Amino acid sequence: MGSELPNYEQAAAKVSAYARKLRQQIAPPRELVALSRANGRVLAIPLIADQDQPPFARSTRDGYACRAAEISRHKPLPVAGSTHAGQSPPTPLPEAAVWEIMTGAPVPEGADAVVMLEHVEKSGKTIRLLPPRTIDVGDNIVAQAAQARRGEHLLPSGATLGFAQIALAASCGRATLEVSVRPRVAILTTGDELVPVESTPGPGQIRNSNASMLAELVANAGGEPVVLPTAADTPQALDKALAKSLKADMLLISGGVSAGKFDLVEPALARLRARFLFTGVRIQPGKPLVFGDLPRTASSASDKGVKRLPFFGLPGNPISSAVTFLLFGAPVMTALAGSPEPRPRFMLAHLGRDTDRHGKPGLTRFLPALCDFNASGGRAPLVETVPWHGSGDLSAFARSNCFLVVPEDAGFLDAGSTVRVLLF
Ligand code: AMP
Ligand code: MG
Repeated sequence: MGSELPNYEQAAAKVSAYARKLRQQIAPPRELVALSRANGRVLAIPLIADQDQPPFARSTRDGYACRAAEISRHKPLPVAGSTHAGQSPPTPLPEAAVWEIMTGAPVPEGADAVVMLEHVEKSGKTIRLLPPRTIDVGDNIVAQAAQARRGEHLLPSGATLGFAQIALAASCGRATLEVSVRPRVAILTTGDELVPVESTPGPGQIRNSNASMLAELVANAGGEPVVLPTAADTPQALDKALAKSLKADMLLISGGVSAGKFDLVEPALARLRARFLFTGVRIQPGKPLVFGDLPRTASSASDKGVKRLPFFGLPGNPISSAVTFLLFGAPVMTALAGSPEPRPRFMLAHLGRDTDRHGKPGLTRFLPALCDFNASGGRAPLVETVPWHGSGDLSAFARSNCFLVVPEDAGFLDAGSTVRVLLF
């Protein structure tokens, strides 16, 4: 143990290579979902423009459709007609005239610009561009098909659907979308001390918070959580519980991966002929993390045609479980969902306060932290660690919105430095 364990970068590289390969192998089954249920889902086939976008040359202003050369002479021109949004395209613009037009309305044929209402002087039924302003061809018009041509691919398959993508699909007339079926992620919590959320813990017992947390993490990353009954710390209980998880697309086991007498998960996985890709990473918290996959049998085949079942043995402390899922579980899961989305998500921030000096050399640390994303004056986001009592401190965790990354050779970081944070 110790220095022969991979460091964070080495373990992350292993996981992302695994995830990449998985993405090439799988053909996720598809399903049709209503647009209103498509948020967070992964598109299974490209989204194609059903018509030109915009479908007609559109005015972006309230004003007058005109010929740029004519209006720029600053002579009064008669208003030949009027069109508002929703009306069909008007007749062609007569010579030496303008056409009143509202935002979103089709521009008449022959007009090559729109002059804004605010930039003209009105006198009876004529208008005149106020000097010294001139108008250029194309001003305040979005040409037909400027955004996309009919038949053009607007989104590739594999795109994750959010509100902007859903709006785009709506604009193409798609009331339903074909998306990849979400990977089913079995969540197996282990530990004799765990009782269900509804129970009052007896002496020495605690409520199972990881099942709820991991279910949300999985759902947030695009998976379908399947929470299994908690397994006791005996080889028999683990064997039985693991046997029930083999039909899932991915397996998360929480607890039982440290070096203690009742940490029985690794041997149980080994009994199922697991291939271990690593058993520990030089990170804190989360060092005992186990990653690998299990062979499938005909009866445990996955819908996705994945030959082996990827698993993560997450250390049981809640913050350890969360950070190891975000760092290593999420990229495998997104790959299973058919998405190339890069995970985990990091960004740079400005450190507001020194970190503690407790860092052990050789471990990359992930400290619960609070980032102010709205730092004023165009400055980088400001981040500070949240005081905590170790990786079981859920109340500190619930007050944080990211992890501050302390590089393995640093141990601690000083206020004022530019630092990396892991977003969640
Ligand atoms: P383990 O990884 O099993 O050694 O557990 C490490 C610590 O995390 C212990 O204090 C456990 O009680 C706690 N723990 C394990 N599983 C859970 C869980 N599902 N929910 C909350 N705490 C847990
Ligand atoms: Mg345990």
